[in-house]
Amino acid sequence: MFRSWRIGRIFGVPTELHWSFLLVPVAILVYSYETGVGLRWSQVRWWSSITTLLFVFVLVHELGHALTAKACGVRAEKIILFPLGGGALIPTEPERVWQEVLIYAAGPLANVLLAVIALPLLLWQPGGWYMIQFYLNPFSNLIVAPTLTEQLLGITLAVNVVLAVGNLLPAYPLDGGRILRALLKHSLGDRRATVVATVLGILIGLGLIGLSIRLSDPVLSLSALFIVSFSALELNRGWQRRQLQRTALKDVLRPPPPDRVYASDTVARARVLFSRTDARVLPVYTNWNELSGFVEREVLHREAGREEPVRLHYEAEYITGTVEDDLLELTERIVAADVYGAAIYRGGVLDGFVFTEDVIVLLDRSPRRFYKRFRSPTSPSPGA
Ligand SMILES: [Zn+2]
Repeated sequence: MFRSWRIGRIFGVPTELHWSFLLVPVAILVYSYETGVGLRWSQVRWWSSITTLLFVFVLVHELGHALTAKACGVRAEKIILFPLGGGALIPTEPERVWQEVLIYAAGPLANVLLAVIALPLLLWQPGGWYMIQFYLNPFSNLIVAPTLTEQLLGITLAVNVVLAVGNLLPAYPLDGGRILRALLKHSLGDRRATVVATVLGILIGLGLIGLSIRLSDPVLSLSALFIVSFSALELNRGWQRRQLQRTALKDVLRPPPPDRVYASDTVARARVLFSRTDARVLPVYTNWNELSGFVEREVLHREAGREEPVRLHYEAEYITGTVEDDLLELTERIVAADVYGAAIYRGGVLDGFVFTEDVIVLLDRSPRRFYKRFRSPTSPSPGA
């Protein structure tokens, strides 16, 4: 789904094309086909030039971000280009707020620059002024037939103005939303600034969906949907981080199980031990009683033969922590190490385990879980 191809380095920034670009030639052919007439090559040429222009405008926008980041001493990992947009991957934040604002503003500013170049060139054309009047009032009729140069310059002007203004909307994850978050971070703190930018993202995105329906514009619908879902994801991520910060590590700590699973045990014995616990992951020990790694219930039930040793089916990797650790920080370490969990020590003695599975349950807000909590024995349930 996220496959993309490297097309080269542009000004030293690795640039990739997303696989969905394969759909562009298909879309051009579909748009240029007319029943009874066949493929209209003039249309193929027209749509190919338009998509190439769009591609260049988006690339210039992303280069604006990436090159400004480099100038601020921050690494731009890569640029990914999609048929209707792009993204510059800048993994680390710059030191100062004004640098962050500058990096995010540089994309729209690059589009402003293209528009500023196109404007006098268009005005210089005989029909240029009519084109501009036409763009300023889309419900008017174009009274002259513009030349190809006038059309291309007109599109350059209009698309770049739309790209600059659209991206400056204060809605996360657009550039404007990121600028707003950077500006608010100082006074509100990281978390609240993110909440403001993402809630605005959801509201503005919903407004744009409404507008796109009125204008019956599928491209705007898609972009608006993207804004809403990206904002919702980021809002949820913030909520999850907050949950983890608020939860004490001991609340998800599982004590060492009374019966140990050994790497030399058969799968059948390990399954019996799993049947005595609700844990989905159990620690695995060596014959010298040293902790060696973790085994997952699912794996043993799905792919392991009864008489096979557990040794073939467990992951001999884990990280360690202490009971004083922050749960958010520990979870981030577990995820970064890509392991099932962490062994937690208290004063040098093994105190228990934190498993990703248990952390996920803590973060699960699905309606089913809510219902389960509602029906739990501690709260009165209807009919009880
Ligand atoms: Zn941008």
